[in-house]
Amino acid sequence: MVELGQQAASEVAENLAEVRRRITAAAVAAGRDPGSVTLIAVSKSQPPERIEAALLAGQRIFGENYVQEAKGRWPALRERFSGIELHLVGHLQSNKAAEAIALFDVIQTLDRPKLARELAKEMTRQGKHPRLFVQVNTGEEPQKSGVAPGELDGFLSLCRGELDLVVEGLMAIPPEDEDVALHTALLAKLARRHGLASLSIGMSGDYETAIRFGATHVRVGTAIFGARSPRRA
Ligand SMILES: *Cc1c(COP(=O)(O)O)cnc(C)c1O
Repeated sequence: MVELGQQAASEVAENLAEVRRRITAAAVAAGRDPGSVTLIAVSKSQPPERIEAALLAGQRIFGENYVQEAKGRWPALRERFSGIELHLVGHLQSNKAAEAIALFDVIQTLDRPKLARELAKEMTRQGKHPRLFVQVNTGEEPQKSGVAPGELDGFLSLCRGELDLVVEGLMAIPPEDEDVALHTALLAKLARRHGLASLSIGMSGDYETAIRFGATHVRVGTAIFGARSPRRA
């Protein structure tokens, strides 16, 4: 078992090096500074030894989807490793807003007025202000979270005006069967219109394309950690 664990660990370190290399190459090919792209290692449903392997290989920025799962592992890891930056990239229920604010450095899935109000209230109460991205449903899929592109103006006015929230960027999860290039271009257009600097888009299968079209934050899971185990929640 120990050997198996070590093999998994060296695989993670190699994968991470390869993803970083590709990010640099994609940025350079697009005439961009590689330092303008942030790699978020999405560790949802991954076993602890693979996460530790990534930490030991120097990765410090991680993404999680579930508040409970993140709460079960990251406080202990933060005690052992300094400089960890944790992003929530999964849907956030309003009744978990307080826990999310306590746990995460960045919340990428701000997507509706009720949640915005709850986050604003809790941030004031806790005196803690995680960075915020607004999730946009660029594919306008009815079952998917995110603000419809046509409703973004109004939603941002609520967040920035009435609630005094600082929004750093936009995040999207494009439909699986569609070209990430179009969705990145749309997200970039929306971000420019609203003076937002950051674009979180691109996953294991398409992060290089997303970088070509302007992504500043790519969220990569399986290309680093390997296949996920079924959700344990
Ligand atoms: C799981 C997940 C990712 C990573 O997906 P991979 O295909 O494993 O790279 C990125 N973003 C979000 C929102 C996710 O849920």
